[in-house]
Order: sequence, then structure tokens, then C-alpha cells
Amino acid sequence: MIAIPGKTQDINLTKLDESPIHLWGHIQPHGVLFVLEEPNLKILQTSTNTLKFFGITPEAIIEQTLDDIFDSFQIEQVKAGLLRDNLDFINPTKLWARVNGDDYVIFDAVFHRNSVGHLILELEPATSQENIPFLSFYHLAKASINELQSNANLREFCQIIVKEVRQMTGFDRVMLYKFDEQNHGDVIAEDKLDSLEPYLGLRFPASDIPLPARRLFCSNSIRLIPDATAKPAQLFPPNNPIDENPLDLTLSILRSASGCHLEYLHNMAVGASLTISLIKDGKLWGLIACHHQTPKYVPYELRKACEFLGRVVFAEISAREETEDYDYRMKLASIQSQLVDSMSLEDTFVEGLVNDSQNLLNLTSATGAAICIGDSCRLIGQTPKEDDIKYLVQWLKKNVNQEVFYTDSLPHIYADARNFKDVASGLLSVTVSQRNYVLWFRPEVIQTVNWGGDPNHVYQAKSSEGTLQLSPRKSFELWKETVRLKSLSWKAVEIKAALELKKAITNIILRQADELAQLAQDLELSNAELKKFAYVASHDLQEPLNQVSNYVQLLEMRYAEALDEDASEFINFAVEGVSLMQTLIDDVLAYSKVDMRAVEFELTEAETALERAIANLRGRIHQTGATVTHDPLPTVMADSTQLMQLFLNLISNAIKFRSEKPPEIQISSKRLEDAWLFSVQDNGIGIDPQYAERIFVIFQRLHTRDEYPGTGMGLAICKKILECHRGRIWVESELGQGSTFYFTIPVGGRERDRRRGRTR
Ligand code: ADP
Repeated sequence: MIAIPGKTQDINLTKLDESPIHLWGHIQPHGVLFVLEEPNLKILQTSTNTLKFFGITPEAIIEQTLDDIFDSFQIEQVKAGLLRDNLDFINPTKLWARVNGDDYVIFDAVFHRNSVGHLILELEPATSQENIPFLSFYHLAKASINELQSNANLREFCQIIVKEVRQMTGFDRVMLYKFDEQNHGDVIAEDKLDSLEPYLGLRFPASDIPLPARRLFCSNSIRLIPDATAKPAQLFPPNNPIDENPLDLTLSILRSASGCHLEYLHNMAVGASLTISLIKDGKLWGLIACHHQTPKYVPYELRKACEFLGRVVFAEISAREETEDYDYRMKLASIQSQLVDSMSLEDTFVEGLVNDSQNLLNLTSATGAAICIGDSCRLIGQTPKEDDIKYLVQWLKKNVNQEVFYTDSLPHIYADARNFKDVASGLLSVTVSQRNYVLWFRPEVIQTVNWGGDPNHVYQAKSSEGTLQLSPRKSFELWKETVRLKSLSWKAVEIKAALELKKAITNIILRQADELAQLAQDLELSNAELKKFAYVASHDLQEPLNQVSNYVQLLEMRYAEALDEDASEFINFAVEGVSLMQTLIDDVLAYSKVDMRAVEFELTEAETALERAIANLRGRIHQTGATVTHDPLPTVMADSTQLMQLFLNLISNAIKFRSEKPPEIQISSKRLEDAWLFSVQDNGIGIDPQYAERIFVIFQRLHTRDEYPGTGMGLAICKKILECHRGRIWVESELGQGSTFYFTIPVGGRERDRRRGRTR
């Protein structure tokens, strides 16, 4: 970000962010600070400039009480006021101190208790003798507020404020800074002496206000440095005598500025400064900075009036910002509800979003979007190439834990993005689940930034007495920078809209999962019923069928002589019909028994299963002169009986659908990435490819029973076996060219299922 050139590059600017400037133990010399013991108000610690104000040395003033210095009647009133929790009721109090005989000096006295409860009194010589009543600063502010409220534009509005503050305080220059997300301050309004060089439109780098100073601006909303050249006054004794620690001056109005800040003011030719903090949601939103070329004192009351004006005015600024945000938020909410509707209409949320692509882009004012589900991506509008997006998603997976991630300068954090900066210099992404992302893209927008001084040389390092010290830049002249590889920034409302969409998607996925679970349950029920039906039907049918078969055969045996040729033929048809029906029933029963729940996964040697199948078919092999050969086969996670049945069905088909030549059957296997691929190849009659799918459907056959006997259940059973193993089966063949049946068995079998959360 900010580089200090040359030899000093190793100097860490974050050091500035660590310095405890509130513990430095110095105050500005235009006032006096006492730390008091309660309740007697004995002075425990003082600033060393007491001689100038009271004619008493710091050593002598220690151990005195406030009564010794000020009128005791006044101190009684102060003591009463200190009993109340809210010290605002006595701040400021005018206190008279008698110095040099009858001479009185009047002070504005301001009390506060610091973080550890020490009572601190700060005294500034009063410029007016009376407390200015609240009404007078109300009148000061009222005119400006009236003018402000009739004004629509935020910039003009800020311009009026700086003009008013300048009129009230008489500073040479009054600026209003607004901080951006990186804490750089943009001067958005300025009122100044004509002779001064304008700072309006300049950007001041974040490091101009180090973190501790930024924190102090938040806790102390007005800050005066009346003389930037004055030598600070130390505290005496340096540490607090009660706890022996440096005194916490966070809330002190006299606290001295850091040397670096004073040098900064000096380099800017500022003799006095008054800063009013504009705080929104506990964060420093901006500052009203008043600069004077020469030292300038601003009375406490006037400071309070400015602070009051700052607050009132800022409430108006916030309200306006929020109204602008509100209108946009409403628009986004309506887009979002349309997207939710679109998602509900489709089977998957992805289809819903793709169909409503314009709304998906409008939701975040993006020019491109991608919906990445596992390994596949759907692209909308102007996006990087699919492969680039896949790598980007990998990078997000590794580097981003939050559910939402956004950047307006992707190429700065992900170097590959330089290749697609024209479409995706800005990225906003939400993680829907571990593998699913929705991404939005914005193109590069080349911008010119006008810096107040060279942001690459914000600080210079100088060596003093052997140690390196940082000092602020000398020149605040306009320094133009062309900013590349950045998109327009994502607004908070857009980021929120993306998050809302993520929630909606999650809800839809959950609802769909619920529906699927319900469907699975329904299916399971109807499957169980079907199975029961098949079982009962086949059992109950067997009996009457056997009866028919027995009686028809009896008829044939007993009355063979009495029956003519036709009658014998009819009886034969009946016997064949009955036997076919028995086979059909057996096959349906076999089919219904192949059930996911019945699968007994175990390490199964495919070769053993194959050999058992071949043994079963020994007779047919012998009869037909078939040769069955195989490669070495692997051990797989499978149900051994079902695997045997699979080989049996495929080999018996290969024999049954043989051509003129004696059948030659070859079984092979090959390891794929996450499965074993088996093949059963024959030199039979082959299959017309148009029927390649149909043959796996129950009762589907391509031949009459006269040509080839069978029920059309064999391949359907094979398919079901493979479904139970989460594998696949298919055929590759041409008529007259032999057929090759392929099937896969996943590596890991049921273990993989378990890992995927399936239960048996
Ligand atoms: P079935 O063998 O009882 O007819 P299948 O379900 O096993 O029933 O097979 C369905 C159909 O697929 C068969 O009728 C046949 O037309 C075709 N088929 C199966 N295996 C082969 C093969 N190896 N060669 C040629 N055709 C086959």
C-alpha cells in the first residue's frame, strides 16, 4: 500500500498504530491540568506550567488543595457537583484564582474521570467572564440547520456546514473529510481564505491519522490545538502517585498532540487546528477540520457550539444517507423476492436463477455472475472463462472461510485475475454450501485519484541519535494517481442482498431435501408393498399353476388313447404355457429379491464369482462348444451372490444369442478413477444399437420365444443388481457383430455410501 522508499523500506508503518499517545504525559501549555484526590480535592499531580498561571511552582502546588488556590465558596459548589455521576452539569465552571495580591484570573474549569477513575481538572484561561448560555449556541446553529434542511444534495449540504463553522470560528480553512472503507479521507467540502491553495477533492491517506489517534477522535469528539508550535508541558510527577502508572489522558481536552502530528501540521503550514469528529455507529465517518495559519484560541463554549452543530448536522447527513440507502434497499428487496419466486418455480434453484438472470445481476449491480455447483458452472453475463472460474472457486475454498466475500480489487489479491480484469476486477461471492458458490463480477473501472501529497511517500524516515524516526511528508501538493485493476466498490446493501439470497437458496435446498426425503419414504413404502405383492403373488400363483400342470399331465397320461391328435397338441400347448408361466413367476420373484437392503457388501473376488457362474453353465457350455476366457479380475466391494448372478445372466445370454460360430466369450476388467469397469464380450448375433436401452427393461425381448426361449427378465435383473451397487450397465453392439456388455462397480462399495451419509 504505502511504501517508504530506499533504505528505510523495512520500517513498519504499523508502529504508528501502536503508539500509546494517550499515555505520553504531556499537555498543551495554554492550560493547566491537575489530578485530584477525592473528596478533599488535594492536588496529586500537575502540569509543570503552574508558575505561569498561579505564580506557584509545581513542587509547591502538589499537596495543596483546590481551596488553597480558588475561592472556597466556589469549591464547595464544585464538591457538590462532583457527587453527581454526570459531570456535564458542572462543565464548564468559571473559577476565580487570586494571583499576585488582588489580581484574579478566571479559568474555564472542566472535570472528568479517566478510565481508572482518577479525577482530572483542566483549566483554560477564560476569554469571557460569564458562561455563554446554551440558547446562544442554539441560535448560532439554528440558521445553518434551517438552510441545511431545505437543501437536497449531500455535497451542498456539507458545503454549507463548513461555511457556517468557518463563520462561527473564524478559521482560515474549514474542510469536511469523509473516510472511505480503507480509511482514506476525501475532502468533500471546503471553505477557506481565497489566498490558500484548495484541498477540495483531494484524498488524504489513511496513515495520516494512525489508529490510536482515530480511536481518540471517537472518544473525544472535539479537539483543539490552539498553537501547533507551543512546547508541551510535562506532568509532575510524571507518573500518577496513586498507581505509579502513566496518566490516561484519553478524555483530556488539553492532551498534547504527538510530535509527528505537530510536524504534520507544521508541514501543512497550520498554526492552529480544531477538529470535530463525525461518528456513525461507533465508527469515525468523517471529520470537520479547521485550520488556521497562525495560533488561534477558541473558547470552550464556542467549541461546544461547534460540537453541537457537528452532531445535529451529522444526524441530518446520516438520515439522508439512510434514505438513499433505504430506496435502494427496497429495490433490492423486490428483486430478491422475484428471484425467490423464480427459484420456487423450478426443480432446482440453479435453473430458477439462470432463468431470471437479469434480476440475479441487478441484485448486486453486477455485470456477470456464475453459479458453481460442485464441478459444474452456469455463467450469466460477462464473466471469466469457465476454467478460470473453477480455479477461482478453488482459491476461495482454500482462502475464504466467511459465508460472504467481496473485493473491489481481485487482481491485487489473486494474481490470475489480471487475465480477466476487464470482466472481474470486482468479486462478490457467497458460499451456499461447501461445494456450491454464487459469484458476481464487476469489470475494471480506471479511476483518477487526487491525493493530498504523494501517497507513496507519506512518511520519511530520518536517523536521529542512532534511532530511526518517522516524519510526515513535506508536500501536500496534488498528486494524481491512476488507479487500475479495481472495480466500483460493493455497497453494504448489495453485500447484504447477496447474503439474503444465500439464505433463500439454503431454505429452498432444505425444503427440497425435505421433499426428497418424503418422496424416498413414499417410494420405500410402495417398493416394500410391491415386493410383498410380487412375493405373495408368485407363491400363491405357484400352487394353482402346479395343480393345472399336474392335471393336464394326468389327462394326457390317462386318456392318451382316447384323445385325437389335436387334443394331444392342445394339451402340449397347455403344458408349455404352464411351464412358461412358472419360469416367468420364478424370474419375477428373482427380480423382486434383488433389493438394496438385501445387498451383502463384502470383499468379493470377481474371479470366484465368475467361476461359480461358469460352473453353473457347465452343461450349456459343453453342449454348444463355447469357450469362456477371462483376464485376471480384481477384488471388489460387492454382494458375491449377486455378482455371480450378473455373470451368469450375461454369459448365458452370450451363449443363447450365439451365431453360427461356436460362442467365444471374453471377460475383462479395467480400473477407472473411482470404479472397476468389467466387460463381457461375445461373438454372437449382436443387437441393433437402437434397442440398446430397451433390452434392460423388464419383459422386453427382441425375439420370439420360438427363436430364442426366455422371459426378458435377465438384463432387467442385471440392471437392478448394478443399481444396488451404485454401478451402471450398458451394451455396445452392431447386428451380426457380436456384443459387449459393460458394467461398473464403484471402488469402496458401501463404505462410500456410508461416507455420503446413506443408511441401509
Ligand atoms: P431374455 O434373455 O430372457 O430374452 P434378457 O433380458 O436377458 O431376456 O435379454 C433381453 C433381450 O436382449 C434378449 O431377448 C435379446 O434380444 C437381447 N440380448 C441379450 N443379450 C444378448 C446378447 N449377448 N446378444 C444378442 N442379444 C442379446
